[in-house]
Amino acid sequence: MNAWLLAYDGFDPPGERLREALCTLGNGYFATRGAAPEVAAGDVHYPGTYVAGVYNRLVSRVAAREVENEDLVNVPNWLPLTFRPQGARWLDLDELEVLGYRQELDLRRGVLTRLVRVRDPDGRLTRMTQRRFVSMADPHLAGLETTVVPENWSGSLEVRSALDGTVTNAGVERYKALSGGHLVPIEAGESGDDTVWLQMETRTSRVRIAQAARTRVVQNGQRVAVEWRTVQEPGRIAHHLILDVREGGPVTIEKLVALYTSKDRAIAEPGDAARGRLARLTDGFDRLLERHVLAWDQLWRRGHIDLGGDGDQQVARTLNLHVFHLLQTASEHTIDLDVGVPARGLHGEAYRGHIFWDELFIFPFLNLRFPELTRALLQYRYRRLPEARQAARAVGYGGAMYPWQSGSDGREETQRLHLNPKSGRWLPDRSHRQRHVNIAVAYNVWQYYQVTGDLAFLEAYGAEMLLEIARFWASIASYDHGSDRYEIRGVMGPDEYHDGYPDRDEPGLDNNAYTNVMAAWVLCRALETLELLPDHRRAELTERLGLRQEEVDRWDETSRKLRVCFHDGDIISQFEGYGDLEELDWDGLRRRHGTIRRLDRILEAEGDSANRYKASKQADVLMLFYLLSAEELRGLIGRLGYRLEPDAIPRNVNYYLERTSHGSTLSGVVNAWVLARSDRTRSWRFFTEALASDLHDLQGGTTAEGIHLGAMAGTVDLAQRCYTGLEAREDVLWLNPSLPEELDGLDFEVRYRGNWGISLHLTSNQLRVRVPASCAAPVRIGVNGQIVELSPGSAREFPL
Ligand code: BGC
Repeated sequence: MNAWLLAYDGFDPPGERLREALCTLGNGYFATRGAAPEVAAGDVHYPGTYVAGVYNRLVSRVAAREVENEDLVNVPNWLPLTFRPQGARWLDLDELEVLGYRQELDLRRGVLTRLVRVRDPDGRLTRMTQRRFVSMADPHLAGLETTVVPENWSGSLEVRSALDGTVTNAGVERYKALSGGHLVPIEAGESGDDTVWLQMETRTSRVRIAQAARTRVVQNGQRVAVEWRTVQEPGRIAHHLILDVREGGPVTIEKLVALYTSKDRAIAEPGDAARGRLARLTDGFDRLLERHVLAWDQLWRRGHIDLGGDGDQQVARTLNLHVFHLLQTASEHTIDLDVGVPARGLHGEAYRGHIFWDELFIFPFLNLRFPELTRALLQYRYRRLPEARQAARAVGYGGAMYPWQSGSDGREETQRLHLNPKSGRWLPDRSHRQRHVNIAVAYNVWQYYQVTGDLAFLEAYGAEMLLEIARFWASIASYDHGSDRYEIRGVMGPDEYHDGYPDRDEPGLDNNAYTNVMAAWVLCRALETLELLPDHRRAELTERLGLRQEEVDRWDETSRKLRVCFHDGDIISQFEGYGDLEELDWDGLRRRHGTIRRLDRILEAEGDSANRYKASKQADVLMLFYLLSAEELRGLIGRLGYRLEPDAIPRNVNYYLERTSHGSTLSGVVNAWVLARSDRTRSWRFFTEALASDLHDLQGGTTAEGIHLGAMAGTVDLAQRCYTGLEAREDVLWLNPSLPEELDGLDFEVRYRGNWGISLHLTSNQLRVRVPASCAAPVRIGVNGQIVELSPGSAREFPL
């Protein structure tokens, strides 16, 4: 198997949407699903193009209520390109006899190729090779090259190349009842003899999106003059070309597209920018492709994880695929955009392009390779600090309360009603009570600082976010005199099956262990941050935030007295009262329903509720073992006045694994991580399952609506941090390897504290660390508890 190639043989209508998601091409500015250029949206196909940060709000009426949702907008489709022998049918694989079909995604070069051979009802045989890229070198450009060979006929070939703004957001079945018409036509036209352009505007956010397309015919490397005309209708413009073709003679149609929006910087106006970009273009498809390939080459130098030796090519390929999609969603072209990382990438419309806590799983990979990118993505949160403050104030808390789902301006975007497709009922959605997203934001700030040592960022932005989030946790925690404990009530943990108590009307749960323990962690980091800040900046911030010593003292006290509940001895209760819930009949449910990943939907459809059972959708308590080392967690729990003996950890892990349905792809990543040292066989199973989750769509159809970027990045990070035991803490790069038997080795470079190219080479019996000569100062490396200083230009082997 080639670890750089995702290939599909045969045209497979039911699998087409999944392929489209997995074959999406993007550059961190925009992305386009791997849909065939000749198709329109329908049951089989769903072309979609999404620009990072371009959202629009619409009101819909469902279940006799008005609901407002903000969506990442499906912008005009730039792909449309089709052909036919003059007078015959346009290319349509659903209708013609398909004699050959292959689709290849070249992960190293970021090129999608389709090879198609068809016979029409009149016996004409036509072969087509189609290549496309979304330029990683120039974020506003994309190219589509189509080479047609009439195998047994000669005559006129008609080509239609269009820009289609009549698209809507219709990619997710369960959102079908919601409004999806986000675009309004503004203008369209042609320039020169080869370019058409189109401008649309989003209905309420009023973002203008302009595209220009240049379509040329090339034969033997020379541009061929052809007969052409444009055809225009509201929201759509097409170029029709007619050319002569000869039996066996290839002809190539090059379509180059420029895309700009009114949110872009350094432009006068998006239409002018798109047209101007093409008009000034002296390069053709091949030259632009070369620059794109070079950009990818450089990305892979920084982003690749080599599994050593012959490695497991299947695993290697999937890891490459995951890095590929991550870098297509967030790249250097994202830095200037004021966006976060959407949980489902720029690959589809699921979750409406919103940003969740999933960045917790995504940033660790980026921190060690593209820290300038994480810094920019954290600024997305910083800019929305006023909105988060307002949200906290609105419900009577202090500090900043970030929303569970975030879009354009940082207000809470979680839907108020969601559809259970199993029962057909619209139900209240309480998932916005997942206040733990604030832990993720704080954790990400802290991790970024630990890996980069970027104190300037902490001083200017990070500290303010950390302090305001700490303030929020301290204010949502209420003091109970009877027990002398602080409590956090009415929240939801990461496990979304439980959104309330079976016998209580008000929604939410009390004392979710993950939330409480990590809130204590945030409070500790906020205290540490105050110590770290230079005096003048600490004074500025505390004055500005009105932060007084009594409040800081209360943080310290709260971080020691938050309540954590236990049951069955030393099992950490997912939330208070969890131990009293009923056990679920897992086997019975599996027998009746087969796959039960979404057992919340199954139970609701049966008139029951997941709230009654000890059953979780995904890792919740286990998140603690994922984010914190055993040592750090035991310290934190000890600070809270409880004891967690080392042997209680595997008991907790087993307890919750037996009671989790893994209805989120994130679960597999966490489980693989927490078992990595204690039960390697099971850990590997979870790892390979997490690897397969998008590639083989283990969540039963959801990948077609967008990839799961948290799980994708999480699997890569398992290889990067979990198997090497890599941790950036206390100015030391700690390593504590535990290579799975299934891997021959791991080889990669990281960027740590401003130093490029620190290389790690791990095999089952040795770890080799090399610090490049270019490092400004020695790097402190800690292996298995021992700290050594490696001077620039030196390497060291550690036997394992
Ligand atoms: C998971 C959440 C996650 C969201 C977006 C949900 O299914 O339960 O933890 O943040 O998907 O990926």
